[in-house]
Amino acid sequence: MSKTENMAATEAAEAKSKGKLAIYWAASCGGCEISTLGIDTKILDLAAAFDIVFCPCITDGKTRDVEKMADGEIDVCLFNGGIRTSENEYMAQLLRRKSKVLVAFGSCATEGCIPGLANLHDRKSIFDNTYQETCSTDNEAGVRPQSVTQVPEGDLHLPVFYDTLRTLDQTVKVDYYLPGCPPESDRIWEAIEAIMAGQLPPPGSVIGSNTTVCDFCNRTRSEKKIKEFKRTWEVIPDPDTCLLEQGLVCCGPATRAGCGCLCPQVNSPCIGCYGPPGDAQDFGARLMSALASVIDSNDPREIQAIIERGIPDPVGTFYRFSLAGSLLRRGKRPEAENGHGQQAATGGAS
Ligand code: SF4
Repeated sequence: MSKTENMAATEAAEAKSKGKLAIYWAASCGGCEISTLGIDTKILDLAAAFDIVFCPCITDGKTRDVEKMADGEIDVCLFNGGIRTSENEYMAQLLRRKSKVLVAFGSCATEGCIPGLANLHDRKSIFDNTYQETCSTDNEAGVRPQSVTQVPEGDLHLPVFYDTLRTLDQTVKVDYYLPGCPPESDRIWEAIEAIMAGQLPPPGSVIGSNTTVCDFCNRTRSEKKIKEFKRTWEVIPDPDTCLLEQGLVCCGPATRAGCGCLCPQVNSPCIGCYGPPGDAQDFGARLMSALASVIDSNDPREIQAIIERGIPDPVGTFYRFSLAGSLLRRGKRPEAENGHGQQAATGGAS
């Protein structure tokens, strides 16, 4: 065998012994990919264990390459992003079929995250605002994106934009969850190590802690008696005392641990980006319960005044990251939804 043939044979043998990894983004910002690259030189260990067979953010793979794979050919797919469009939905179904293990990766896939706040609106109002109503928009003809546009050369297609953003597990079966906006690089590496060692928790589990941010917070806690919630710009907090005791809405009691308590460490309240802890079904309900227990009043009118003054944006406070995955899922709409809470795929404009 020649030297070149030898090298080719070695490479082929190595490739055969490696796992296959896909990393995909749907409706998301790309922060999960940046955090993945934050595993630093461990990326070499990752490359030794896996061939990255599909990752549009960093490689030039095409959807048709995935379509040609056998079902279950990908060992692990880290899927980040919510399901906002027909393309997101198609890719979720495709990667589910082609992957042995599908991980909802990051807050957008697990609970909708910031893009899910658009569930307070519907497609028409989102398009009206984006393409018509902002003060920097000049669109006298009222042009809206269309899912099919006919031109002399043929039909041009854009994905259909749905009324409601869904989480990954509202769309396909998910095997594991890795929350966080984004998941911390150390947590990503711990998850990859668990996958490589075959030491995963039972299917359906979150890979990570089930406790809360408060459990990892070093601030001094005593009895909480709140007469007033303050906005972060109104106060320079004491660096050693629980922020919630100082009247700041800290989401620590309602948030899954995993971040290393980063925000409270730098005198900033937790905003809940790791979602609810293991024993909570709904982040907003857990946080409301936590706040209700510390308000120092029995008078309903005084309680209402404390909340209205200190929490002017209830949805942004209680469901900033989790509206799409919550028990509420979306804002109330006047017209009836179809079965999946989506508008029919009839075109881009309503
Ligand atoms: Fe720390 Fe916030 Fe929990 Fe207080 S509420 S203990 S500041 S994480």
